[in-house]
Amino acid sequence: MNKMMSGFEVQPAVTSFLKGPLRMLIGGEWVDAQSGETIDVFDPATGERLGAVPSAGEADVDKAVRAARTAFESGPWRSMQPAERGRIVWRIGELLLENAAELAEIESIDNGKPAAIAQAADIPIAADVFQYHAGWATKLYGRSVEPSVSYMPGMRWHAYTRREPVGVCGQIIPWNFPLLMAAFKLAPALATGNVVVLKVAEDTPLSAIRMGQLMQEAGVPDGVVNIITGYGETAGAAVAGHPDVDKVAFTGSTEVGKLIVNAAKGNLKNVSLELGGKSPNIILNDADLEKAIPGAAEAIFFNHGQCCTAGSRLFVQSDIYDKVMEGLTDYAKSIKLGPGLDPDTAMGPLVSAKQLERVQGYVENGKKAGAQAITGGQRVGDKGHFFAPTLMADVDDKMEVYREEIFGPVVCVTRFDEADAQLLARANDSIYGLAAGVWTRDLEKAHRLAAGLRAGTVWVNTYNAFDPSLPFGGFKQSGWGRENGDEVLEHYLEPKAVAIALGE
Ligand code: ADP
Repeated sequence: MNKMMSGFEVQPAVTSFLKGPLRMLIGGEWVDAQSGETIDVFDPATGERLGAVPSAGEADVDKAVRAARTAFESGPWRSMQPAERGRIVWRIGELLLENAAELAEIESIDNGKPAAIAQAADIPIAADVFQYHAGWATKLYGRSVEPSVSYMPGMRWHAYTRREPVGVCGQIIPWNFPLLMAAFKLAPALATGNVVVLKVAEDTPLSAIRMGQLMQEAGVPDGVVNIITGYGETAGAAVAGHPDVDKVAFTGSTEVGKLIVNAAKGNLKNVSLELGGKSPNIILNDADLEKAIPGAAEAIFFNHGQCCTAGSRLFVQSDIYDKVMEGLTDYAKSIKLGPGLDPDTAMGPLVSAKQLERVQGYVENGKKAGAQAITGGQRVGDKGHFFAPTLMADVDDKMEVYREEIFGPVVCVTRFDEADAQLLARANDSIYGLAAGVWTRDLEKAHRLAAGLRAGTVWVNTYNAFDPSLPFGGFKQSGWGRENGDEVLEHYLEPKAVAIALGE
């Protein structure tokens, strides 16, 4: 029985995984919630119930934190030779690749995204992230320092710094790239010798559970990675507020990011946040439209617009405005919606009924305020959470549809005359500053705009190009700190100064 309600087959490995039991990983054991409560998991393309995962409460989170603390204080992880730890982290990446087809199908039926895209992007990038960070394990250098200590004249010193793991890291992730977001969080924490309590999103818990099994196979010791399934307000809040969690890393909405900061203040946790966006994407008159039109379309429609980096405010220079609108409209209309398991599907359903309602709400609100849906603008079908790729024109800078993060396939298009300071001011007029795009053949303009855009990432003649070597995160209310690159290491390592008095 490998056939899903959508009519498409999944691999036998997926069927047997779904048979479960689907449990949480705490201290190396797969367990139910102590309350026995569960959360049903659904396929967003059909509403089919895929199974149920534990709904963790405070007691479960506490147990996971204790398991993590024990693993940190007395387990083999921190004392392991860096090369060995690096090899285990690398091996996780290999196992993701070896099981890519299965993981992609799990991701597809849980989240809605096309399995082919998950297999081509989500899974290999997650593997890259583990393998990139695996290399840090052997490269966590300190420095030697020559202090003066002016009130101890004549003293000679040998002083150096060490970089040590922060400890127990609480990590809370969203549903848009379930496996990839888990990789972004886990890989740097593990490579640097930390231990983790990972709270996955209630809508998409499955791929992390499968990855937990693969992590055990890779040789991650018990208690080093604990995976909690549960709701944000209960399990997530318990992670963020736990007095024995040293650090919390969160990816999700700006609204919840603020709650995390509040919850973390009790024991002054180190906090890193990757939050929302309303990213400007700018096409200049001289752009290569063969690339810029599909590029701008994918900037918003990739992953059904459920990307924090989505290019959701499109600025098009006047001379090419009509041509770009026409090209985008054709592109949007040509996108084939369907279940993620269908190899012909280019766009799957939104993740949940709640998300569909939210996207619909923003579009309706925009229309009431005078914006026009040039194409799309409504739900597709009455089964599954499908929403048509949508272009909104006649928007003004005050409308909610233009200002707020929608997290759906909806782009607001506006025009501009000159690539000048006024354009930059409009592009930067947002509480967010996560990403931005520029499409031009003019090098000077490209660099000027890249420097002027207040965003953590600027893509030129491309969009959504991710690599673990590139730091990722936001200016303004898009977050605190960076993931990936060597920038992420500061969130997972405490510098320690050691000063040795050698005598006068
Ligand atoms: P969305 O609303 O799109 O699901 P969120 O930012 O609410 O995005 O969710 C991202 C993650 O944050 C999920 O794992 C969710 O369970 C978790 N979360 C939601 N609310 C809280 C909270 N109050 N405290 C901690 N985590 C939370």
